[in-house]
Amino acid sequence: MLTVNRYKCCYCGACVSVCPTCALELVETWLEISADCKECGICTKICPVGALEVEA
Ligand code: SF4
Ligand code: SF4
Repeated sequence: MLTVNRYKCCYCGACVSVCPTCALELVETWLEISADCKECGICTKICPVGALEVEA
């Protein structure tokens, strides 16, 4: 399961543009993770503040 640390995320949008399934969306000051997430982990590597994590 992909989780976002709301305290770390600065809503830069970098993760949104790298997701191959377009599962991430910035909605005002909220990062939405949709059911389209395949837990590939690409977004976790691009996030500059380490706010995204794929957990078992
Ligand atoms: S883990 Fe992969 S599929 Fe899920 S939101 Fe991140 S980049 Fe997209
Ligand atoms: S890349 Fe990281 S800091 Fe930027 S919007 Fe995504 S989770 Fe937030």
